Amino acid sequence: MKTIWLACLLVVAVNCRPESLEKRYDGHQVLKVFPNLLENFKNIEALGAKYNLDFWNHPKHQNGTYDIQVSPEHVTDVINELKSLGADASVWIHDIQSLIDESRPSDHQKRASGTLSMNHYHSYAEINTFLNSIVSSNSHTHLDNLGTSLQGRSINLIRFSTGSTSRGTHKKSIFMDGGIHAREWIAPAVVLYMIDQLANNPNNDPDIANLLDKFDWYLVPLVNPDGYEYSRNGDRMWRKNMASSYGTQHSFFGCGSNEMGVDLNRNFGYHWDPANGGSFDQCQETYAGPHALSEPETKAMAHALDSVTSHTLAYLNIHSYGQYWIYPWGYTRHLPPDAADLDHLGRVATTALYHVHGSRYTVGEDTVVLYSAAGGADDYAKGHSGIKYAYTVELGDTGKYGFLLPERYIQTSGQELWAGVKAMAHELIRLYHL
Ligand SMILES: [Zn+2]
Repeated sequence: MKTIWLACLLVVAVNCRPESLEKRYDGHQVLKVFPNLLENFKNIEALGAKYNLDFWNHPKHQNGTYDIQVSPEHVTDVINELKSLGADASVWIHDIQSLIDESRPSDHQKRASGTLSMNHYHSYAEINTFLNSIVSSNSHTHLDNLGTSLQGRSINLIRFSTGSTSRGTHKKSIFMDGGIHAREWIAPAVVLYMIDQLANNPNNDPDIANLLDKFDWYLVPLVNPDGYEYSRNGDRMWRKNMASSYGTQHSFFGCGSNEMGVDLNRNFGYHWDPANGGSFDQCQETYAGPHALSEPETKAMAHALDSVTSHTLAYLNIHSYGQYWIYPWGYTRHLPPDAADLDHLGRVATTALYHVHGSRYTVGEDTVVLYSAAGGADDYAKGHSGIKYAYTVELGDTGKYGFLLPERYIQTSGQELWAGVKAMAHELIRLYHL
């Protein structure tokens, strides 16, 4: 391993990141921080830059918390600084590495063609095999390559389309994607769960045929395949894409634990602004890129969203965690004129979702009270593409695991979200007389 690093040092290659070296997080903690005072929002963000902190969560309402990952050498200093500011800080996760070990993908058996275990986190290759086998055996499905990631992986969309509706009208569509943030593994897993429902109907749900008749369904399980693979093989806490060389401010070795990459959900081109909830600094987790849509992954998604605008009613950009169903705008506190409609449909979805396993989701605007973030996919889908019902969905959990949800939660998360999506679809059928 030393040899590999030596080779890296010799070529000073900014993208030299041998995948065999898995980054460890022994003793890294996550603090839950109540800001208490309004001025502390600014102060806490400033501590982030000083100590190279990774913000897992920003407060989305007045009583919300910051969830902040801190390396062992800085824990005491950070807690002391927070206390002197008048904020309350407590340790939420004591050792990130032990949770990483618990949520590690397990070995699993190969399954029959066209099926995929819904109890596992799958690799990019396994996901593609699954998509290809569906398309080869199901004439109503199509696979579209939306574009190619920086490292050459295709960004795939699977489309379910049975032609015009039984009433002879042109289909409306629903568009969903996951995995824009690499470490949020539950998001692609749940998109795959929904693909499985539509393609294989494993529970013999009589509603599936109706949903396929009323809508075209577009699903992208992995918006950020490079980052996802790196989070599986290199750094479990990786969030961004794998862009390596913007700017001259920092060298690869100058970034510490947050080396390089662009936060794709700050890179979309509707009111793009790194100063608004993003960052100009490539070492930060929310680096917004050198300009709007600078990344091949966001370009591919933007093009896909723009090309379906005439008939797409709803768009879900799926993340974890926190259990939120939120709608634009992210870039401003002003509400869109049809906010009441978005709020209504969000409540229909989350009510159905709640009835599955009792999970409560908060419905609201992106910038609910305090935290804005420009350059998000939902703002682009609504503001630029003109898709009316555009949402960011933050899946579970709210408590114990954060990004590190173990595989045993995939089924329940899938059941819940799918129930919410089906309720949303039925409400759209009612509203649009489909
Ligand atoms: Zn996310």
